[in-house]
Amino acid sequence: MTDPAPAPWYGRTHWRILAALVVGLVYGVVAALAGWSEFTADWITPWGTIFLRLLLLIAVPLVLGSLITGVASLADLRRLSRIGSRTIAIYLATTFVALVIGLALVNSIQPGASIPEDVRTRLQEQYESDVEDRQATAAEVAERSPLQPLVDMVPDNALFAATRNREMLSVVFLAFLLGVALLRLPRAQAQPLLDLFSSLNASIIKIVEMILVVAPVGVFALIAGTITTVSGDDPANVAQIIGALGLYSLTVLAGLLLHAGVTYPTLLALFTRIGPVTFFRGISQAQLVAFSTSSSAATLPVTMRAAERNLGVSEEVASFVLPLGATINMDGTAVYMAVAAVFIAQTLGIPLDFAAQATIVFTALLASIGTAAVPSAGLVMLIIVLEAIGVPSEGLALILGVDRLLDMCRTATNVTGDAAVAAAITAGERSAPPGGPAGAAGGAGGGA
Ligand code: ASP
Repeated sequence: MTDPAPAPWYGRTHWRILAALVVGLVYGVVAALAGWSEFTADWITPWGTIFLRLLLLIAVPLVLGSLITGVASLADLRRLSRIGSRTIAIYLATTFVALVIGLALVNSIQPGASIPEDVRTRLQEQYESDVEDRQATAAEVAERSPLQPLVDMVPDNALFAATRNREMLSVVFLAFLLGVALLRLPRAQAQPLLDLFSSLNASIIKIVEMILVVAPVGVFALIAGTITTVSGDDPANVAQIIGALGLYSLTVLAGLLLHAGVTYPTLLALFTRIGPVTFFRGISQAQLVAFSTSSSAATLPVTMRAAERNLGVSEEVASFVLPLGATINMDGTAVYMAVAAVFIAQTLGIPLDFAAQATIVFTALLASIGTAAVPSAGLVMLIIVLEAIGVPSEGLALILGVDRLLDMCRTATNVTGDAAVAAAITAGERSAPPGGPAGAAGGAGGGA
């Protein structure tokens, strides 16, 4: 489970990434103080963008390759439906718990009650135009028929589907369909495509290893760029925003910590023998990449690698459960949606009764599933939750200032949840009746 022969600390990628993250934070603050935002935007941020693009570049081939081989390797449709239904049930259950945690915290802490009138007006004015953009996007989403998400999931053009990171669910669908078809074909006929996709898979994993070598540079640049963008050339901006939105941010963070620190270890204790320390150490590299990229899709290759190497997640489970999780399982986003929706209502003085809170649970559950695994996607979907409970979506302006920073934290929680569920499913499969994956233990190899 753990690294049998750990490399020296300076050689371990996650330490180097962590160091890069800290240096990026320090640089961001210094740059804001020294007025280097233009220099940073011209010369530092592009390296972060390149890193993010490299990761996104391999997201679609990885989902295709791993899901197709993953589904096809499940040997029969019964196992596929068993693993599939368990995975979806646990994903839904953990997201439900995340929403309940978010609602419990925001209702007891009441972060919106303490926002003074003038701060509220200023925040709303400052982000007015941004909100209009998001509203337009959300309006398009909301105007569609209730079954539209299902329609969107089925692409009408395979090549086109494979070109859109935002619509990963249609890639998942395509891969799933092809995987099932290969499963049902005579072996000899299926083999050429299986070989092709498993070789694609292996190449992508090699690319991930290469990208991880330069990850510290990318992480440094992403963090430095984010801090300078948020603060402009005036660190006082950050201080002001944090002052006004501190309690709200802390409520979201507390929810994320509680969910990651209690729900996942409980899940692991119920299904696996993995202790919290092993789990969090094993998944830390993926959390760091999620934190710096704010994208579960971009982090997927790293999550898969960490889950297989450090948590003993079997390859067949990882290649099925993790791409699906990166697309539909967003527990961090769910916590955030619950807290943000109630916070905005509190700030605007709109009371929410039990029925409204139940509506939040229902819509946020669906909205988190529909959230694309890319930066800020949760913010757009939050508008749908606000509309459902009759809170004006202009209220979004109140939280925009800290959203990017919270996005980093919720994305880290999102990928943690995917890994925890993958570990639980692997353990369940090991103890499954015959037909199960005899010794399909993932390699307990060295953590990077
Ligand atoms: N950025 C998040 C993710 O990729 C989604 C969100 O905006 O909440 O997981």
